[in-house]
Amino acid sequence: MNFSAARYAFLALGLSLSVHLPADQGVQIRSDHEAMARKLFADVIAMDTSVIGLETPKMAAYLGERFRQAGFDAADVMEVPTGPNLMSLMVRYPGQDRNARGIGFLAHLDVVTALRKDWELDPFALTERNGFFIGRGTADNKAGVIGLTAAFIKLKKEGYIPSRDLVLLLTADEESGMVSAKHFATVLKEDVNIEYGINADALSGILAPNGSVFGYYVQGAEKSYRSVLLTVRNPGGHSSAPRPDNAIYQLARALIKVEQHKFPVMINDISAGMMRSAAARSDTQTADAIADLIDDPSNVAAEKIVSRNPLLATVIRTTCVATMLEAGHAENALPQSASATVNCRIMPGVDPASVYSALAMAIDDEGVELQPIQKESTIAPASPMREDIMAAISESIEEYADVELVPFMASYGTDGKEFRSVGIPVYGSSGTFMDPREAYAHGLNERLPVKTFYASLGYWERLIKQLANR
Ligand SMILES: [Zn+2]
Repeated sequence: MNFSAARYAFLALGLSLSVHLPADQGVQIRSDHEAMARKLFADVIAMDTSVIGLETPKMAAYLGERFRQAGFDAADVMEVPTGPNLMSLMVRYPGQDRNARGIGFLAHLDVVTALRKDWELDPFALTERNGFFIGRGTADNKAGVIGLTAAFIKLKKEGYIPSRDLVLLLTADEESGMVSAKHFATVLKEDVNIEYGINADALSGILAPNGSVFGYYVQGAEKSYRSVLLTVRNPGGHSSAPRPDNAIYQLARALIKVEQHKFPVMINDISAGMMRSAAARSDTQTADAIADLIDDPSNVAAEKIVSRNPLLATVIRTTCVATMLEAGHAENALPQSASATVNCRIMPGVDPASVYSALAMAIDDEGVELQPIQKESTIAPASPMREDIMAAISESIEEYADVELVPFMASYGTDGKEFRSVGIPVYGSSGTFMDPREAYAHGLNERLPVKTFYASLGYWERLIKQLANR
């Protein structure tokens, strides 16, 4: 996961970027359960599960032992190797109806690399300071791992039996390939056997700088990512004698066409939800345009108005933009080649091949070669925003009860798309609330408010019961 989209949402809404630091305040631990969860959190933050430390086997073994101690059958706690030095964990919580498909809960064990010398504090030691837990993985995604683990353990010890199986899937390489999620969604699909999944790998509750709550994102779709290389070749020559054809000019003309090309507007459950939420905060003209565009995606006048909002502009269509250029070999020579990288963010469920051919048609010049840059990225449809699941999430949030749930489409990838691509809807929802600019996920001094860590424990417990009882 990354947090840039949430940050972007703020910018789109014109909120200020002033930094606010909370006053130093200790957070009281209120129960043995919270103390147990904090101990688990500290223990797993100490494990370097990045591609450098490769400690997902250690973390999977450590957590597996906790589940068995809590009363889970050894056969229901499976350490699953999903690559060299990569260990995932699958825990099945048996329900009453063993024939019904289960409910999946996703989080990832691994973290982005963190170098001790760059951090103010040891990234692999949990520090509590000024109301924050600081350490690699505090926000992305070990609080999610521990929130789910603690809820499973507590419910098991209390003798709770869900109506159907709950299946916890803790993956080992969300940050470096998502092979684990693919393995669960494809090779082990029948064993996993879930109807849908809730992914803890999400920054859901968004707080404004003044501490007021802005909204709660439920991530239901992801754009896919592809790049293409445009290349023009030319015999070249001496720059003192320009030819009528020139690789740089020819490429430049092609790039202008790419800039001007607009992919068709596509409305799915998620983009429609994001638009409706934006409409409620917009002037009448924009709100009307949003309603018109949801009604008729081919309404050009409405599309122009909606696209003025930079966040909405990215969720209503596929976008492609030039990101890199390379051309020529000498100051005094005509260019023998010129090339540009164009990066596309493709709407959920759209075949990249259709995007390449649309670009080729827009460029309309056989002298411009178009070469997809191979980078494996799963194509997945948007998840339908089911009312029962949204209601369960809404009723499980206590920290900021009555917060508006906003469907969210991410422009980055998570494990969720591996499941969506095989027909299993996934909803990103973590139960945590924070100002996204304070998380520093993937960056230095990653942190999570202590208060929201403890609040999320109750969230997971309530959500499991809400979902399992529907
Ligand atoms: Zn993540």
